[in-house]
Amino acid sequence: MTALDLSPLPSPFTSPPPEFNAAFLQTLRNIVGDRFVLTAPEVLATYSCDACTLVQATPQAVVLPKNTTQVAGIVKACLAYGIPYVARGAGTGLSGGSLALNGALIIGLNRMTHIMQLDHRMHTAHVQTGVINAWLNQAAEPFRLFYAPDPSSQSACTIGGNIAENAGGIHCLKYGVTVNHVLGLTWVTPEGEIVSTGSQHRRGHGLNITGLLVGSEGTLGIVTEAVLQLKLKPANTMVILAPFNQTRHATEAVSAIIQADLAPSALEFMDAATVKAVNQAFEVGLPTDCQALLLIELDGTAVTLRHTKARLLQLLADHQCDSEHQQVATDPQQCKQLWAARKGAVAAYGRIAPAFYLHDCVIPRSQLTQAIEGITAIGVAHNVPIASVFHAGDGNLHPHIFYDPDQSDRLPAVMQAGEAIIKLCVALGGTLSGEHGIGIEKNAYMPLIYPEASLEWMRQLKHTIDPAGLANPGKILPQRRTCGEASHQQAAHPMTAEQLAKKGLWI
Ligand SMILES: Cc1cc2nc3c(=O)[nH]c(=O)nc-3n(C[C@H](O)[C@H](O)[C@H](O)COP(=O)(O)OP(=O)(O)OC[C@H]3O[C@@H](n4cnc5c(N)ncnc54)[C@H](O)[C@@H]3O)c2cc1C
Repeated sequence: MTALDLSPLPSPFTSPPPEFNAAFLQTLRNIVGDRFVLTAPEVLATYSCDACTLVQATPQAVVLPKNTTQVAGIVKACLAYGIPYVARGAGTGLSGGSLALNGALIIGLNRMTHIMQLDHRMHTAHVQTGVINAWLNQAAEPFRLFYAPDPSSQSACTIGGNIAENAGGIHCLKYGVTVNHVLGLTWVTPEGEIVSTGSQHRRGHGLNITGLLVGSEGTLGIVTEAVLQLKLKPANTMVILAPFNQTRHATEAVSAIIQADLAPSALEFMDAATVKAVNQAFEVGLPTDCQALLLIELDGTAVTLRHTKARLLQLLADHQCDSEHQQVATDPQQCKQLWAARKGAVAAYGRIAPAFYLHDCVIPRSQLTQAIEGITAIGVAHNVPIASVFHAGDGNLHPHIFYDPDQSDRLPAVMQAGEAIIKLCVALGGTLSGEHGIGIEKNAYMPLIYPEASLEWMRQLKHTIDPAGLANPGKILPQRRTCGEASHQQAAHPMTAEQLAKKGLWI
């Protein structure tokens, strides 16, 4: 990527932070207790990357608070000692957001797992942000309630990580992404102040600080508690598995379903390589000869479902769906099995290659056909295998570019293919991320979608809230040297973020 001439505010974090001294570590121990300040190298190694394993950065220490007051104490200590810090949930992020660049402190929220209140009459939950997404759903289940944002990683990822990334999921097509379900937050500001935002009632007034914090990837401080909106489970659910012998017919069917306003609760796409990998890994019996598969979920009253199903099946037939292998599941167990095939896709990719680089671009849904054809061509041009499973109804693509980490000479092709995909999606009128965030993965590409004036406003906002620049530095906003350059350097000679920093590629 050509170096972009970016002139950010002077970064307070141009060199590694001071080595954590005994006084700082003792301050942390006084706050959380000795057991919860981790410094052993073998333990720190487990915090050195998130699920985007291309880049690694080892923290100097990890601290594990148990409540908001302890988080505020830690942040104040960081401010006093000039130590940069990174909030971390489960580390399932896919854009490097929770990496401790240059040896920053990791503040792990994993002990903050208390569900303080689940109000089944108001359909709200008040939780600490270390609660795992699936745990909240388990707690809500007896009341026939659910928390709608359902990332495929929901059995591991935390509510805090979901809020920080504005996470999406299979059912966000109908129910909306995380920001649509957050009523209020408890926020530890970069000054160490404890601030409440929003309102547990559905309406709030004043400046929307909750909206500002959702999606801010820990760069504006740490979210320690959240009041979340729960939904009543739909009375009926139906899942339709629709195979197609041509990819183009499947993508055109997606556009037609959206245009017809059939409001499915989920509309997911799997390509032929994904179907094959899932069949091999789990023997779930997906149709073997198809080129593409749609999984479509409808929910609602029995009458609505009957009516919508009829229209949907007609529309699929109009787009040459392979009706012989089409399946319609209404039994909850059958529905679950079909979704298990979709949710197992990423694990099944281990059948294709030892590692993949997963992208997360968004395109207008009317451009799906062009995007898929373009991505196939990019794979051929760069000679890299690519497979896709994604939230088609949202236009949220997830091309997985496969590689073998032991063949480092192939990594530049992987990075170049990734960049070509990003540029293709932007050219089609899309944007950089649908749900995985910007982190360090895509901050160099922010100028592709935001003019310099918009980026400057973001920098000023960050600087106003975090003048010391200690809250997750180096993430989201493009720095003086581009992450793209770093990525290429990384691809050519894989190295740690610390090594990149020494070369001046990270700031
Ligand atoms: C197999 C797989 C499937 C996935 N599927 C989806 C999907 O369908 N949809 C989707 O949206 N994502 C998906 N993801 C990505 C990831 O799971 C989400 O981004 C998730 O929200 C990250 O949560 P986490 O707890 O792991 O956060 P982490 O990875 O620990 O952190 C992510 C970011 O959030 C910040 N952060 C964490 N906690 C806090 C806090 N309390 N306050 C402030 N900042 C905080 C971190 O600093 C970092 O910037 C998937 C990942 C994997 C590995």
